[in-house]
Amino acid sequence: MDAIDFRSLFGELGLDIKTHSGNLRCPHCARKAFKPYPDGRDHCHACSWHGDAIQLYADVKEVDRNQAYAELAELFKLGKVKVKPKTREEAMKGLASDLEDLAWYRMYFAFYQNSRAGITHYQKKSGYSQAQVSKILNGRFDQVSRKAWNSVVNMLRKDINIDALKRDIKEQTEYWRNRIENDEAMRDSVAKHQ
Ligand SMILES: [Zn+2]
Repeated sequence: MDAIDFRSLFGELGLDIKTHSGNLRCPHCARKAFKPYPDGRDHCHACSWHGDAIQLYADVKEVDRNQAYAELAELFKLGKVKVKPKTREEAMKGLASDLEDLAWYRMYFAFYQNSRAGITHYQKKSGYSQAQVSKILNGRFDQVSRKAWNSVVNMLRKDINIDALKRDIKEQTEYWRNRIENDEAMRDSVAKHQ
């Protein structure tokens, strides 16, 4: 999710929204050392307070996190608290993680082949064309709509367990390593190719 725009939250909490060389005035220690970070957390370099928007709200309003969350969600719905649009750097980080996962999904389809639901199954499920899904699977983010990209990547993330795939690949590698070690003919043949 996009990070909360802390300035709009500060405004809503009645705090000083002026920034001082990138820092806000800390609501806890009142020093100009409060800095929001792209991970959605903020940190005060003077008093070391560290937390997310919910914690900040809870602390300033003196309510618990559940109530802070409910009230923040309400403010967000009313448009009083805004989310900060992703910076280019954050967007690139998201894309890099998509591309890494897509490489695993390609591996998944290659590894299980016909023993699991294949690409066609997911293509049909996504509602996008074969050409589009193939472009996404191959990481061609500049050739498809953002909506199609997100929808397909999120579907694969929900349905395909990369950790289980990694385990299966490792087990199979170990199986073959053991077979090779225990089989003289195989051992010789592998040795010849090294
Ligand atoms: Zn502070």
